[in-house]
Amino acid sequence: MNERELSELYQQVILQHNKSPRNFGELPEATHKAEGFNPLCGDHFHVALVLNEDGIVSQVKFSGEGCAISKAAASMMTQAVTGKSIADVQRLFGEFHALVTGKLDPEKQSNQLGHLKIFAGIRKFPARVKCASLSWHAVVAALDKKNQISTE
Ligand code: ZN
Repeated sequence: MNERELSELYQQVILQHNKSPRNFGELPEATHKAEGFNPLCGDHFHVALVLNEDGIVSQVKFSGEGCAISKAAASMMTQAVTGKSIADVQRLFGEFHALVTGKLDPEKQSNQLGHLKIFAGIRKFPARVKCASLSWHAVVAALDKKNQISTE
């Protein structure tokens, strides 16, 4: 896929997820929660998830308000982490962060990013890196707080 195709796909996917975000809403049965705030842009989300007895993220939801990039990234994050272990989520976050900060070339270095690759274009807009990674920071922070609910 060349750069222009990637950029068109990126715009389509962002618009689509922004219009109808996946896993958007409250999750009253959550075992882990965290909040993410990006003062540079005003993005503000809550991420809530259920970690089952096997240590797998069985459900994840997000709520709040933010720009199109932050909302689409949160929507895609919920899809990407569902069914994964804590270690897998942490590894995927590491790859995603490396991608958006330009430290990982998804076509040349092995990774598990899948559809998340479309965020590669963010590296050209450093001010938006935080928008794209906000919900990922929140989900990793939530998983860090072992079996307790926190809104820190
Ligand atoms: Zn934003």
